[in-house]
Amino acid sequence: MRSNPHFQQLRNDYLFSEVNHRIKAYQGAHPEAHILRLGVGDVTLPLPAPIIDAMHQAVEELGHIETFRGYCLEEGYPWLRKAIIDNDYAPRGIQLDLDEVFVSDGAGSDLGNLSELFDQHNRVAIPDPSYPAYVDASLMAGRTITFLPCSADNAFVPDLPPKQADIIYLCYPNNPTGTVLTREQLQRWVDYARQNHSIIIYDGAYEAYIEEDDIPHSIYEIDGAKEAAIEVRSYSKSAGFTSVRCGYTIVPKQTGLQAMWLRRQCTKYNGTAYVSQRAAEATYTPQGKKAAQANVNYYKQTARLLRDGLQALGYQVYGGINAPYIWCKTPQNMDSWTFFDYLLNQCQVACTPGVGFGPAGEGYVRFSAFSDRKDCEEALKRIKNLA
Ligand code: PLP
Repeated sequence: MRSNPHFQQLRNDYLFSEVNHRIKAYQGAHPEAHILRLGVGDVTLPLPAPIIDAMHQAVEELGHIETFRGYCLEEGYPWLRKAIIDNDYAPRGIQLDLDEVFVSDGAGSDLGNLSELFDQHNRVAIPDPSYPAYVDASLMAGRTITFLPCSADNAFVPDLPPKQADIIYLCYPNNPTGTVLTREQLQRWVDYARQNHSIIIYDGAYEAYIEEDDIPHSIYEIDGAKEAAIEVRSYSKSAGFTSVRCGYTIVPKQTGLQAMWLRRQCTKYNGTAYVSQRAAEATYTPQGKKAAQANVNYYKQTARLLRDGLQALGYQVYGGINAPYIWCKTPQNMDSWTFFDYLLNQCQVACTPGVGFGPAGEGYVRFSAFSDRKDCEEALKRIKNLA
């Protein structure tokens, strides 16, 4: 047996384990310290009651012979796929067929697995900084990556790839920078992909956080996108499903990849848990929608608090309006880890070093609105006292 040599290409300093390691080390040396964790990308509010009720009911059904369910379709129950089309796409004028919607156990799995659809020699383009899974999945598959640097100079919107890119990962609202694309900006990417026969893998995990009117919620709002894009969505950050696990991926037939993805899923994926699919369905009922939106609104308020608070303290901040993340320039050109250590040591505030999302993230840190509200208020006071 020879192991996959491409794993050697992966950076072994996995961002969040290093962050946890440093926090743990500090806590060990200062057991009395109350560390405020403002970096975590996981949700913190409990699941809304209508979703819990739906899960209880689904569990109950599995316990009775009349309502028991076994394996379901690999691509998900038709009632959930229909609810997705009716709620997330039709109201925006997007027509999809049921067999273009694939229910998943979350965006993370599909973002990695989609890579199997493409020839190994395809060239990949990934904005830098970015959510680490795109880079890692591409490296594991042995592909060459072109990084598209994002900085304050281009408002964290990458330029089109300088040379042919076959697979392009885009994530908007963006993790980690919190930025969004306008319709015109997204149209340029779709046009590029169509002209170059590329495919865009569009990660819409934070779609629920969009609040400004002219920002597209789905890439399929853009002319020609059905030929050129796969869209990946998740209930993790819209309804608190990080432990429940459910999301979906749209593979339009015009991409020429729908039948391949179905085949791949039928071979390697035996479907999303019934209880999780019923929970996802419950996010579309009037009560479910209202309750999930209340949680998203809470996080959005926290994002505003952090953004405005940091700005008032003189920090240069981005994001935090259509996204739960605030991307913050470090003071005095400190590098990301130095500023991370500085905040941890001086005021026991933990953030996420921007360089962990790619070299262009150097000199930035990410604050997360999923943090406890009181911790955010307290952190802003502590950071203020540092000055
Ligand atoms: N995409 C982005 C940009 C994310 O930030 C995350 C999780 O933090 C994911 C995908 C994974 O989401 P899921 O929980 O659906 O796997």
